[in-house]
Amino acid sequence: MNGSSAEVPTPLSDDLIVYYRRVLAAHSIDPVSRVCPVCGVKRCADWQQAYERLVVAGVDLESRVGP
Ligand SMILES: [Zn+2]
Repeated sequence: MNGSSAEVPTPLSDDLIVYYRRVLAAHSIDPVSRVCPVCGVKRCADWQQAYERLVVAGVDLESRVGP
């Protein structure tokens, strides 16, 4: 046992959270072409990196859901 069972979220600054959210929005899958409109591929590297950073930081990505 090494006692490392608890994972502590890596904190992100508010600026970085805003930045990564913008990256996610810009690189989201286009509903028509089904690929990133910027990179032309599905789930591009930019999108994956931003998504992973937000998830690791414990950011709730579902909080934008409206009524
Ligand atoms: Zn992209």
